[in-house]
Amino acid sequence: MYNARAYSARSATSPLAVASVVRRDPTEHDVQIEILFCGICHSDLHQVRNEWQSVMPTVYPCIPGHEIVGRVAKVGSAVKSFKPGDLAAVGCMVDSDRTCPECLAGLEQFCLNMTLTYNMPDKHLGGVTYGGYSDSVVVDEHFVLHVPSNLNLAGAAPLLCAGITTYSPRPWRARSSGGEDRARA
Ligand SMILES: [Zn+2]
Ligand SMILES: [Zn+2]
Repeated sequence: MYNARAYSARSATSPLAVASVVRRDPTEHDVQIEILFCGICHSDLHQVRNEWQSVMPTVYPCIPGHEIVGRVAKVGSAVKSFKPGDLAAVGCMVDSDRTCPECLAGLEQFCLNMTLTYNMPDKHLGGVTYGGYSDSVVVDEHFVLHVPSNLNLAGAAPLLCAGITTYSPRPWRARSSGGEDRARA
């Protein structure tokens, strides 16, 4: 494991502040990314302020951010599609069960057992996942995207949530709202 720097909220009322976050060393399928840019999504603000506590209570400290663009720093021994120096991006999810019909169809964004990029149980380290308001993140290559080098990297970051959501949004049935469908982005 190693320490990365992050912007972290300690409570629903505290401002984001510089903190240290523990990241796992890359396993054989992981990509370690030096984060260069991270967009600010409205979801980050709701989550940090625990405004979704009825459906997705925030675990503190909370490190949001799921519009991540950076450069590959290290790869695990079995990683095939990335090498150090490549541009890379991570969006709203960092894992899924990979066994359900949606996953098998390549539609992991519809998986009911996905691991979101922050504030979801971390299968590797315990606790919860921590997002892209940080200088480094480690993600399975299956959930890492390539970024064309001719894109403006800061401009590309919002494509990872806001952009992709307009392309294939995930309908989300809020459990507390009596069946009202809402699109979570
Ligand atoms: Zn699945
Ligand atoms: Zn978002």
